Amino acid sequence: MRILVVADLHYSLPQYDWLLEVAGEFDLVVVAGDHIDLSSLVDWRAQSIVVRKYVERIKARTRLITCSGNHDLDSRNASGEKVAQWIRDLSRDDVPSDGASLTIDDTLITVCPWWDGPLVRADIGRLLGEAAAKRQGRWIWVHHAPPDKSPTSWGGSRYFGDAELVAWIAEHEPDIVFSGHVHQSPFVATGSWVDRLGSTWVFNAGHQFGAPPAHIILDTDEGMALWFSAAGNQFVHLDQPLQRPVEKLTALPGWLTSPSPAGDRSPARTPDSAHE
Ligand SMILES: [Zn+2]
Ligand SMILES: [Zn+2]
Repeated sequence: MRILVVADLHYSLPQYDWLLEVAGEFDLVVVAGDHIDLSSLVDWRAQSIVVRKYVERIKARTRLITCSGNHDLDSRNASGEKVAQWIRDLSRDDVPSDGASLTIDDTLITVCPWWDGPLVRADIGRLLGEAAAKRQGRWIWVHHAPPDKSPTSWGGSRYFGDAELVAWIAEHEPDIVFSGHVHQSPFVATGSWVDRLGSTWVFNAGHQFGAPPAHIILDTDEGMALWFSAAGNQFVHLDQPLQRPVEKLTALPGWLTSPSPAGDRSPARTPDSAHE
């Protein structure tokens, strides 16, 4: 299964356009939260309508999974905790989202909501516990915040990760966690787009402006994850220990470039715009 992972698009229409353009070349597209930009002058509801249109169009081209981020929260549950009901509702339209757990081929994928209080946090604990019972092979989580005290949550002066996620990872040892949220992590000293907690691989592609967005291509058959950004490209072999510095990607692997219906429009082309 070839997976394209992005997060933190924050209503960047050039980035959604890029995602739509390349989505069909992947078996699965994961958007790990923060569709909306709360600081935008564009009204929140208008943003969500536009994003939903993109979601529909991407879904028409490939399988799409998404979770909520802290910018996506539109309502409150009975206890007053903020939730992203519009993201949760996407599950009704065949876009597995907050609270979903599904199996694709040999891979179990569990999608966690952003948690703003103890009830949703407990929901996530239950969701993971129930999914753990169904686990057979590979298990992937989608969870907007990266784990705390990890290079994937380093913001340059402190960590912005989720300590609860660290505990859940220790308890369940999933194979892979896709996150986002801490935009700078891959671009600042001692930060990174990739980490390993025990046997679990953790990813945060980071955020850059313009198209393409910083993104990760993970191929489960090839056992590789590749990171593409304006600050450079790197890769890891999933069946090998994580080593730092993470190896630079100097040439695209054959499996990524060879027979693609899109010809030279490889989604992995090197971005030519500099990171701000
Ligand atoms: Zn964000
Ligand atoms: Zn966020």
